[in-house]
Amino acid sequence: MAKRDYYEVLGVSKGASEDEIKKAYRKLAMKYHPDRNPDNKEAEEKFKEANEAYETLSDPSKRQAYDQFGHAGVDPNQGMGGMGGGANFGDIFGDIFGDMFGGGRRSSGPQVFRGADLKYSLDITLEQAAKGYQTEIRIPSYDECDACHGTGAKAGTEPVTCHTCGGSGQVFMQQGPFRVRQTCHTCHGTGKEIKEPCPKCHGEGHIRRNKTLEVKIPAGIDDGMRIRSAGNGEPGMNGGPRGDLYVEVHIKKHPIFERDGDDLHCEVPVPFATAALGGKLEVPTLGGAGEIDIPEGTQTGKVFRLRGKGIKGIHSAYPGDLYCHVFIETPVKLTAKQKELLQEFQKSLDENSGKHSPQNKSFTDRLKDIFK
Ligand SMILES: [Zn+2]
Ligand SMILES: [Zn+2]
Repeated sequence: MAKRDYYEVLGVSKGASEDEIKKAYRKLAMKYHPDRNPDNKEAEEKFKEANEAYETLSDPSKRQAYDQFGHAGVDPNQGMGGMGGGANFGDIFGDIFGDMFGGGRRSSGPQVFRGADLKYSLDITLEQAAKGYQTEIRIPSYDECDACHGTGAKAGTEPVTCHTCGGSGQVFMQQGPFRVRQTCHTCHGTGKEIKEPCPKCHGEGHIRRNKTLEVKIPAGIDDGMRIRSAGNGEPGMNGGPRGDLYVEVHIKKHPIFERDGDDLHCEVPVPFATAALGGKLEVPTLGGAGEIDIPEGTQTGKVFRLRGKGIKGIHSAYPGDLYCHVFIETPVKLTAKQKELLQEFQKSLDENSGKHSPQNKSFTDRLKDIFK
């Protein structure tokens, strides 16, 4: 899944203007266009690569996301609704090629459609999210049908020119004074009609198979972020590029830690005597056991921060912190002897009338004020 930098693909600088990007893409598209390079796999790849780079860099919000997340290929800012649809791509394609192939591809030839994007939901653990994770996923994949070689027409027959649109893939409707162009409803823009569909692929031209794909989850990824695998979506139509695959990451609930951005929080019980006397307390961290110093007289709810023991987020320079929220554990299942010791201990506290329990003292004082 190693991909070239989009700016490098188009041969422009990071600060290139929209116009420079358009010009650079136009040059590459002219050079590698499938119409000019029939049966040339390398040119086809180059053409797809340039299309993909242009599609991102020509859209200000996509370009910004790309500049920010770059090679990690992650664009959490983009909602699912924001993915480029086929129609959108068709427009870009039309703009670029309109004046390139005399008369305009839009009005003279069938439309090009980008394939649909696919979404895959991947559950990972907090540890995997923190360290980065590599796994294999099974996704639906589409291969050209070998019975019809992708035409969708039964072997021995050929798709014929669409009788509705005459092969242009588009029809014109008169709406008041305007002539409005629409995608042909008979051929759905392909310009071809299939009289006898291929029985193997039911006229689709491609066959669904599953394939295994390696996915690298970058360290620090957060719940709901998506990783894009370009070109692993559904196939396009009429030579249009494939859609993309989006792997959406979900982080499973952790038994100890709760994540808040780059920070982690956890609750840790402190033995009653340690809280009173002070001492060392072992606490969990994502990297193994840690230790905090409990000062004398620690109360429930006190929070101890372990700097840098959180998670280093994808866009962060430093890892976050771990916050240990301590609570005093009341001893249970006491023996008769232990009970006796505690009673004796309590008696010694009472002799000092509230000095050892300031919170309890202020509470009973307030009660007295209310009920006096
Ligand atoms: Zn077929
Ligand atoms: Zn048609």
